[in-house]
Amino acid sequence: MPLKINVPYAEKDLAKEKGAFWDKENKTWFIPDHKDINLFSKWIDTEKVSLIAKVPFWLGVTQKTCWKCNNITEVIAFASNNFLIYDYSDDDSDIKEWFFQNYFSFFSSPNYIDKEVLDIVCSRYPFFKLGFSKTVNSKYFANHCKCCGALQGDFFMHEEPGGEFSPIDMDGYKAITLIEVPYKFDLMIDASHSWASNEKEIFKYIRKSKW
Ligand SMILES: [Zn+2]
Repeated sequence: MPLKINVPYAEKDLAKEKGAFWDKENKTWFIPDHKDINLFSKWIDTEKVSLIAKVPFWLGVTQKTCWKCNNITEVIAFASNNFLIYDYSDDDSDIKEWFFQNYFSFFSSPNYIDKEVLDIVCSRYPFFKLGFSKTVNSKYFANHCKCCGALQGDFFMHEEPGGEFSPIDMDGYKAITLIEVPYKFDLMIDASHSWASNEKEIFKYIRKSKW
């Protein structure tokens, strides 16, 4: 599915030549799925975007007990089984490229999320917003308790074995619902992903639902 790119007016002919298209309705240049994204790197803001999840991408939704008030609250995390990461091609290289990853991962501690996607997600999950985490001493888009407003840190939900988004068995995965985000372009985000390539099969077994 298409990826939005940011082409200055002066470079529109070059973008077209390389295979980009203009989307009239959404007033943006985009590249179709079959094109090599690395040909278009200069029009992707890699200062902000470190990860691109192809359409369709999901929100994992589940519940947890708030560490502060002990009430049950909903928590979400972006997820994909078909995404690209921007990384060095090998240890000696100082050039970064986009690489495809074909395993299932939740994304944690996002610092940047495409504004349009963020608006869609926050209209339904207003407790998902920028917050300061004392655990990691920085700001990121985090879940907050719907009862007391306390930040529910991604570290424990994603990094601790048995956390809401790092289950250690199928029962843990069954507690999560994947909701397809209704957006026609690929997700541009800056976030951490898991390296658990053995999770390829898991995607099949998680419950999925429409928005
Ligand atoms: Zn609470």
